[in-house]
Amino acid sequence: MTDLDRLKRFVKKILPDSAEDWGDIDGFDLERVCLECGLLERVERTEFCGEECACAGYYGSDEFPIQCNQWTELGKACRDTETCDD
Ligand SMILES: [Zn+2]
Repeated sequence: MTDLDRLKRFVKKILPDSAEDWGDIDGFDLERVCLECGLLERVERTEFCGEECACAGYYGSDEFPIQCNQWTELGKACRDTETCDD
C-alpha cells in the first residue's frame, strides 16, 4: 500500500458519504483511524517520551511498559507546517 493509498483510506474513513451528513468526529475514533491508516503507530515504551508527548499524562509511572502513539513518517509529513499552513 502506497502513502497515497493510506491517505485515500484515511479521507474515506473520515469524510462523510454525504456532504449534508457531517456529524461529529470523536477523538477516540480519529486516533483509531490514524492508526489504521498508518499516520500513527503504537510504540512500546519503558519510560515516558518527554514533555512534548501525551503519554506521561495518560499513563501512570507504575504501568510500564506502555503503548505510546507516535506519528509515522507519513503522519509527520502530513503535519509539516512548512507545506500545510496557509
Ligand atoms: Zn509518549
